Amino acid sequence: MHERVAIVGAGVNGLSCGIRLLERGIAATIFAERVSPNTTSDRSGAVFTPFRIEGHPQAARWTEVSHRAFRELVEHHGSESGVSLTPFREFFFAPQNARPWWAEFVEGYRRIVDPPAPYAEAVAAIVPKMDITRYMPWLVRRFETLRGQIVRTRVENLADLFDRGYQIVVNCSGLGARALAHDEAVVPMRGQVLHLRNDWSLPECLVEEGRGETTTYVFPFENHVVLGGTYERGEWSDQTDEPSLVAIMERASALLRAAGHADVDLRSGHRLRAVAGLRPARLIGGCEEAVRLEREELAPGRTIIHNYGHGRAGVTLSWGCAEEVSRLVLLAEESFRE
Ligand SMILES: Cc1cc2nc3c(=O)[nH]c(=O)nc-3n(C[C@H](O)[C@H](O)[C@H](O)COP(=O)(O)OP(=O)(O)OC[C@H]3O[C@@H](n4cnc5c(N)ncnc54)[C@H](O)[C@@H]3O)c2cc1C
Repeated sequence: MHERVAIVGAGVNGLSCGIRLLERGIAATIFAERVSPNTTSDRSGAVFTPFRIEGHPQAARWTEVSHRAFRELVEHHGSESGVSLTPFREFFFAPQNARPWWAEFVEGYRRIVDPPAPYAEAVAAIVPKMDITRYMPWLVRRFETLRGQIVRTRVENLADLFDRGYQIVVNCSGLGARALAHDEAVVPMRGQVLHLRNDWSLPECLVEEGRGETTTYVFPFENHVVLGGTYERGEWSDQTDEPSLVAIMERASALLRAAGHADVDLRSGHRLRAVAGLRPARLIGGCEEAVRLEREELAPGRTIIHNYGHGRAGVTLSWGCAEEVSRLVLLAEESFRE
């Protein structure tokens, strides 16, 4: 069968799309300048965080579809994929009035009565968490096991792939879409995180509501604990800086104390690595995750399906967006047959 589909990008979105397409019998090749462990996705937190995606009309549906997919991964591939379920608490400085839409499908959602100082509100739930050091390699293996091929190359122009005989190009280039799709709404939002060796048996993930350029979270995994983070809008350098890392440690320590884990002394922790990743934000109106997921018809037999701009929530949205991409690919294939 003639292979029609090229995917640009081997981050969490390109790989998830590739896997869904191959599972549906549609051959696809990935073209990517960077592959795991060198993509932004490899630097992700990466906990299921629906609360970061308010303001996008499709986000709720994609998030719910993703949630189902992660639950299935836990059930069928939990140990090898690094995906598991975790208790999770989020703390807010101001009261939250409405019950969030994602409370309908995550397990165990509840508001916490009497949140600890200095917080005005707190919620708890059970959510999927992805040990990204294992999840990204697993996605690559899964894609390749399904006979997907990854070509390491920089794509200068999406149209070049049509000239190579492809008819559908799925654009999962993250921040690269700024140039490839000529989209100035795509901007970097740097996130810095610290990985400490997991010398504590912390039983839950903790998040404090983000404020300005900072956010605070503690995500424990089997061998490491991720401490975050920052939301540095418009920052193009993917290097960490020591003052930010020290501030992250201090905020994370305060969060742990407030949440009842005063016994966890992060200062004694063994630092494994410090990383910074450039989240592919897409700013439209007040929304920083204005994901572009749509079909663009350049000419008969030349279709682009864009899937970029996931900002702080690309892991959370990945499977929901991949489902939508595969639906659009099937529609495009049908239109070629007509
Ligand atoms: C510190 C940090 C913490 C985070 N925590 C979370 C979290 O807890 N939960 C969550 O859901 N999300 C989180 N995120 C966000 C999430 O990591 C991103 O939204 C997601 O990784 C974006 O994935 P992507 O596949 O779209 O892009 P990327 O991972 O950036 O992949 C883009 C791909 O496109 C390729 N590419 C780009 N341009 C070209 C070109 N011209 N030619 C060829 N290839 C090209 C790149 O080489 C790469 O392979 C976090 C991010 C960071 C940095």
